[in-house]
Amino acid sequence: MKKLERRAVLCLVLAGCLVFGLLVFLVRFGLSGTRWASSAFNRHLYNSQGMLISGTVLDRYGTPLCWVNEDGERVYIDGKTMRKAILHVVGDPYGNIGTGALTAFAKELTGYTLLGGAYGAERGNQLYLTIDAQLNEVAYQALNGKKGAVAVYNYQTGEVLCMVSSPSYDPRNIPDDLETNPDYEGVYLNRCLSSTFTPGSVFKLVTLSAALEQIPDLMERTWKCEGSAQIGDGTVTCTSAHGEQTIEQALANSCNVVFGQLAVELGGATLEEYTQKAGLTKSYSVSGIPTAKGTFTFQGSLTENDLAWSGVGQYHDSVNPCALMVYMGAIANGGKAAVPTLVQKVDTPGWPDLPQFTKKTGRLIAQDTAKEITDMMANNVTQTYGTKRFPGMDLCAKSGTAEVGSDQKPHAWFAGFLRNEDAPYAFVVLVENGGSGSDVAGTVASKVLKAALD
Ligand SMILES: [Zn+2]
Repeated sequence: MKKLERRAVLCLVLAGCLVFGLLVFLVRFGLSGTRWASSAFNRHLYNSQGMLISGTVLDRYGTPLCWVNEDGERVYIDGKTMRKAILHVVGDPYGNIGTGALTAFAKELTGYTLLGGAYGAERGNQLYLTIDAQLNEVAYQALNGKKGAVAVYNYQTGEVLCMVSSPSYDPRNIPDDLETNPDYEGVYLNRCLSSTFTPGSVFKLVTLSAALEQIPDLMERTWKCEGSAQIGDGTVTCTSAHGEQTIEQALANSCNVVFGQLAVELGGATLEEYTQKAGLTKSYSVSGIPTAKGTFTFQGSLTENDLAWSGVGQYHDSVNPCALMVYMGAIANGGKAAVPTLVQKVDTPGWPDLPQFTKKTGRLIAQDTAKEITDMMANNVTQTYGTKRFPGMDLCAKSGTAEVGSDQKPHAWFAGFLRNEDAPYAFVVLVENGGSGSDVAGTVASKVLKAALD
C-alpha cells in the first residue's frame, strides 16, 4: 500500500512538472514566438546561406527594391548606384546590416503571426518603406564617394523620404575586401541611425536657444570679433575677424568668439539642460530601430576654455544625425516634431492595410524660441549661404565645419528645414572630412532638396 502511495506522489510530481513546463513554454512562445520564427535558423523562412526568402521590400511609390525570385533567391533592383543608395535602409542579404529592413522588419516581411504561423516564402508580405528610392540615388550620387550621411523627413508625418549612408556596396556584387579595406570602414552601420559625430557649428543652435531664454538683453547686445579671443586659459578662434555684430549676424557668421563667450556665461549646467531637452542625448525609436545617443561633457573637470569650445560644437560633443534632424523638425514645427518612421505600410495578401500612426516627440524647444531661431536660420541662408543655390525653397539652415583633428579635413554639416507648406521637410547632411559645411554639405543638401521638391 505504501509503495502504491509513493508511486502516486511521484506521478503527481511528474505531472506537475509537465504542466509547469508547458506553462513556461506558452508564456515564452507568446513573448518570443515571433522572434523564433524570424530567426535565421528557421529554414522555412531562410535558405541555407541565411538569406530571408520571404517578403518584398518596396519604396513609397511601390517600386520593388528587393524580392524573392522564382528560384527562391533574394534579388535587388537593377542599377548598381541605386542598390548602393538603398542598401542601408533595405539591408544586405546576410543580415550584417542589423538596421536594414530585411533584418529589422523580418517579422513584417514574413507575415508571421502567433496564431497563423508563417506561410513561408510563397506568402511573404509587401513591406512599403517611406523612402523614395530615386531621392536616395540622388543623395548617394551627391555624396560623390565620400563617407557620410544624408536624411530628409517630413516633420509633420514622420515619413523618412531619404536615408543614405556611405560607404556602401553593391549587394549583388559584394566586394572581396569589404571587411579589410579601410575605405569600407563601418560599412555595416547606417550612419544616420547608428553613429555619432562631432557636430561643430550646427550645435550653436542649442547654445542660441539657451541664450535666447536665459540672457534677457541678448537681442540688444553687440559683440566685436577680432578673429580670436582669450577665454579661460586658452583662445577661441574664428576663421576670420567678424567685426561688430548682433546675435543674428553672429549666427550667420558662425562666430566662435561670440558663441564661446555665451557658453561660458550660460554655464555647463544650463548647456546640458538645453542639450538634453533638444533630444540630442536620447535614443529615438525609428519604426522600432533605436538611434545612437549623442554624448556631451559640459560639467566636471573641464576648463572654461573647454566649455567655450563645447558651446560651439567641439570639445567632446557628439551627435547622431537622425536626432539632429528631428531637432530641426521641432524648430520648424513650433517645438515638437513627428518621430521619424521608415514603414509606410505592410500589405498582407487577403488582409486590409493597417493604418500607421504618427508619433510626436516631447517638447524639444519652447515655441517662441523656435520662432526666433527659425527667422535667424532663414537669415543665414539670405546673408551667408545664398538663396540662389536653393531655388523655390523657403529654407532655414545652419552649416557646421567640425574640426576632427589637425591631420584630417573637418566634417562638413548642413542641417535645417523647409517652410514650404506642401513640403514640410527637415534634413541633415554630413560629409565626413568633407571640408567646409556650407560649400560641401550645402551643395549636397541643395541637390537633394531640389530633387525632393520635383
Ligand atoms: Zn568671429
